[in-house]
Amino acid sequence: MIYDSAIIGTGPAGVSAALTLKANDKKFIWIGSKAFSDKVGRAERIANYPGLPMVTGAEMNDTFRRQCEELNISIEDRMVTAIMKFGDHYALTAGSDFYEARTVIFATGVANVGLLPGEAELVGKGVSYCATCDGFLYRNKTVAVICTAKRFEHEVAFLAGLAAKVYYFPLYKDHSAFGENVEILADRPVKMNAENGRLASLTLKSGGTAAVDGVFCLRESVSLATLLPGLATEQGHIAVDRSAATNLPGVFAAGDCTGRPYQYVKAAGEGNVAAHSAIEYLAKT
Ligand SMILES: Cc1cc2nc3c(=O)[nH]c(=O)nc-3n(C[C@H](O)[C@H](O)[C@H](O)COP(=O)(O)OP(=O)(O)OC[C@H]3O[C@@H](n4cnc5c(N)ncnc54)[C@H](O)[C@@H]3O)c2cc1C
Repeated sequence: MIYDSAIIGTGPAGVSAALTLKANDKKFIWIGSKAFSDKVGRAERIANYPGLPMVTGAEMNDTFRRQCEELNISIEDRMVTAIMKFGDHYALTAGSDFYEARTVIFATGVANVGLLPGEAELVGKGVSYCATCDGFLYRNKTVAVICTAKRFEHEVAFLAGLAAKVYYFPLYKDHSAFGENVEILADRPVKMNAENGRLASLTLKSGGTAAVDGVFCLRESVSLATLLPGLATEQGHIAVDRSAATNLPGVFAAGDCTGRPYQYVKAAGEGNVAAHSAIEYLAKT
């Protein structure tokens, strides 16, 4: 099935876009977190969001959840790791799933992704963002996993079942234990090194080196540069015009990912604009 639209992100921008597409009877897929936005959840008190005076971030997320549930709007709890133009529409990879949509709305928040030196050049040549998609390429090989959140640990377990050896770099507290072939390292990769055009090793902060066939970077957000090649950015934000349109046909963006000020009401407003622009685009094409 080809959806009218795919929304990526479940903060205020994504919520607003989803509510608007729903009100206009569009068929859309919404990919993000069932817990909505971690950034919203962390706010102690919110004083400047119309209609929700002095709520906590947790209350705001809960209000979003109830509003979406009442309208039967559901979320696919996954990370989108790659988007490709596919004829007149877009194909999105999220975990082991694949979605197709005529328009895409980015509502991904600030892409606070510090790519490691060497990383961007080695995507698809040993660097991957999805264990369940690419793990089979590393059967009986040596891989590293750089992971920023506990919620991705199932991907580590998946790789442990395939690879001969996994070097695990958990960049968060309270990580789980895995099988014997998973070596947990209290270190952090600082550089990716290539040999003959493919990833060969990681340089570690301690000064050591780990020789690997592949590395999986499991982060809370994916760099815009690697997510959709060709998407124009300005100082780390997605470049948009007043209609929330990007430089790519059928691709729109809203919220923190388009730039400052980083505010809920701006995100929600832009989510609404992006959804309306997507609807207009669908009517014209
Ligand atoms: C502690 C704190 C307090 C704040 N207080 C205020 C305040 O009082 N008032 C105010 O106006 N603003 C406040 N802000 C700012 C506000 O949180 C942001 O401006 C707002 O959350 C931006 O909304 P957004 O929808 O653009 O992005 P976010 O809320 O960041 O949501 C982005 C979503 O996209 C998802 N995502 C990202 N990449 C992918 C991917 N590849 N695949 C799938 N999903 C993806 C993320 O998981 C997340 O769910 C505060 C921020 C913090 C951290």
